[in-house]
Amino acid sequence: MLTILFAARPDRWDAYEAPLKRAIAATGLTDFRVVTEAAPEEVDYIVYAPNSDVQDFSIFPNLKAILNLWAGVETIVGNTTITVPLCRMVDTGLREGMREWVTGHVLRHHLGMDAQIKGTPGLWDPRIPPLARNRTVAILGLGELGTACAETLLALGFTVTGWSRSPKSIPGVSCFHGPDGLTECLSAAEIVVLLLPNTPATENTLNARTLAAMPRGAFVINPGRGPLIDDDALLAALDSGQIAHATLDVFRVEPLPADHPYWHHPQVTVTPHIASETRPETAAEVIAENIRRSESGEPLLHLVDRSAGY
Ligand code: NAP
Repeated sequence: MLTILFAARPDRWDAYEAPLKRAIAATGLTDFRVVTEAAPEEVDYIVYAPNSDVQDFSIFPNLKAILNLWAGVETIVGNTTITVPLCRMVDTGLREGMREWVTGHVLRHHLGMDAQIKGTPGLWDPRIPPLARNRTVAILGLGELGTACAETLLALGFTVTGWSRSPKSIPGVSCFHGPDGLTECLSAAEIVVLLLPNTPATENTLNARTLAAMPRGAFVINPGRGPLIDDDALLAALDSGQIAHATLDVFRVEPLPADHPYWHHPQVTVTPHIASETRPETAAEVIAENIRRSESGEPLLHLVDRSAGY
């Protein structure tokens, strides 16, 4: 019998138990169990959230793969006890959620909605926003989530540029890559959206130099990871007016400490890491498909490149 260990915070079990069992059964596998506790030598697969208590994988001698529930793997990728394939989460629910969150926050800044939402009663000050086609949005990170956001923004008419590690070709998107491509990508970016993974190479992607490369009065939206931004440099850029506003969903320390300047800065919107979440029904299908593939000797989907860190 296959034993699939669910290793995530206990409150997630209620949401995942039924979808996982259903999705695995739908692949045709019959002799399996999905459990939250098992003798280590019996475990074949671990469905994993990096904030679970399981951190030492060397105790599972028969483990075949770790199937991560999160898209970001920065807290597990360096775990030296892992000797089996590690797969990250690519989930349509995660993608849809991110598309909606990013589009909403891009439109807020594009349309200048704050002027009315936070406006002064009695002040009639008509300012017509430009059309989307006259606004350039840069997406840093053209992976699963960045590409989905780029496509939605393109469909609304925005001029979309993007940046990745390797060269990309996405219809309608001006794509840049590598360290040299970043400044060029940012030079026209009136709104920048960060959807990079957190790796040593992406830390402080937005810093004093790259923030200065953006057009004056640009907007920063970060649903990626906190370390992508040099916080002191961003605060200085906000204070000087180089950056008009930052909408931040992720931080170096979460929850964001109560005394962090971001909470009280008038040009910063803090959201509590809610941009998107793995959805149990669709994520269970991704996990089940990888178990099916592994059991039939087919290549696994969404393998993490542990040397690249994502
Ligand atoms: P992904 O498919 O792995 O895409 C990552 C993108 O970043 C790729 O285009 C990659 O380039 C690019 N990249 C990586 N290192 C780079 C570097 N050094 N320079 C330039 N580009 C680089 O990841 P994803 O599924 O889209 O997810 C992106 C991130 O979103 C996750 O890692 C996670 O941190 C974050 N996230 C946040 C939330 C939230 O609720 N806030 C939810 C889910 C995910 P290549 O294409 O060349 O490989």
